[in-house]
Amino acid sequence: MDFFNVVTVQEALERIYEKFEGYELGYEECQLSQALGRVLYEDIIAMEDVPGFDRSTVDGYAIKSSDSHGSSDFMPSFLELAGSVRMGESTDLSIKSGQAAYVPTGGMLPEGADCVAMIEYVQKVGESMLTLHRPAAPLENVIRKGDDIQNGQNVLKRGKTLRPQEIGVLAALGKPSVKLFKKPRIYIISTGDEVVDAKGPVLQGQIRDINGYALEALAVESGCIVSGRALVRDSLEELRAELDRALEISDIVLISGGSSVGERDYTEKAMNSYEGEGTFIHGIAIKPGKPTIVGKARGKAVFGLPGHPVSAMIVFNAIVKKLIKRMSESEAAENFITAIMDMNVHSSPGRTTYQMVRLHEADGEIFASPEFGKSGMISLLSRADGYVEIPDYCEGIEKGEHIKVSII
Ligand code: AMP
Ligand code: MG
Repeated sequence: MDFFNVVTVQEALERIYEKFEGYELGYEECQLSQALGRVLYEDIIAMEDVPGFDRSTVDGYAIKSSDSHGSSDFMPSFLELAGSVRMGESTDLSIKSGQAAYVPTGGMLPEGADCVAMIEYVQKVGESMLTLHRPAAPLENVIRKGDDIQNGQNVLKRGKTLRPQEIGVLAALGKPSVKLFKKPRIYIISTGDEVVDAKGPVLQGQIRDINGYALEALAVESGCIVSGRALVRDSLEELRAELDRALEISDIVLISGGSSVGERDYTEKAMNSYEGEGTFIHGIAIKPGKPTIVGKARGKAVFGLPGHPVSAMIVFNAIVKKLIKRMSESEAAENFITAIMDMNVHSSPGRTTYQMVRLHEADGEIFASPEFGKSGMISLLSRADGYVEIPDYCEGIEKGEHIKVSII
């Protein structure tokens, strides 16, 4: 790796997008109950109006609004009760001037009526007469056929990440299943002679594999399927063999550790051992996370992430996650909040700095306090509510500045 060749985060993303332009994840047809959080592969065009008929939004009486003009407690209008609309059924009632029909909330508006007078403003006088005590405007308390969604409307676009409300829209349109982007398959390899699986005991000098688990969780949170996880020693042969297995069954491979220029750092060599392709980014101007490698092997994206857990996770959020979104053309908005920095923070000009912060509320405002720690300290991320991205051309953030905090 040539550390004089570091690229900015923006440049890195542009190169990565270019290399994987047109990468096809493919699609699968999924039941609505399995679709939450997934990304739509197809545009959804409504094949019917919603609602399919004019509906009342209240319990009341369907009338002609012109019959209600000037109605008040002193001077109520008198109307003849022409009948009732039954819930869930079509009605053949037709309202003439001077008439009203009872309609429940969600019931069909009978022909001739153009509004619904709320039950609160109507009194029954005997069997078939009503008095109306308030005027009602045309279309008052009515949702018209197609008001919600119109037949032919492009309601949801390809790339939309489905939230509960979109699941509701699909249900309203009678779509029991939809075409979704296949989840990207991510394979996670941890490397290091000192790293042992978190399930087992550790000897002096060894550390537990944090990255394997933390990156797996990030991948799942980002909508991926983890196609495999492995822990390999600092050995080019072992790493190369594992990478072979990973590339068979994955769209993206993450290798954490060994991404720097040390004697026993083999990530770059392993990535460059494939014909025709190999690494195209060696070092990103990001703090933490500079020793990051990105390459392409057998058409798949391979990331060499730093071994330090905080760096690995930051690079995942800043770079890997963006490629995941890009592959499924996802437009999902980032989860962030605006806060006021409560003290001065220095950054590293020339590098995009990710500063961890904790949020707290005071006097109706949200404040961010920086959380400091070394990038080898996983508890730093656990203490933080989010991070602020300080651009490479800035020297820091001043106390009192409004900042955008990405929630983690
Ligand atoms: P490296 O990038 O291999 O030089 O590793 C940098 C630091 O991260 C070293 O202190 C490693 O022990 C540590 N590290 C590497 N991989 C992991 C891992 N999977 N979990 C926790 N720490 C790790
Ligand atoms: Mg190492």
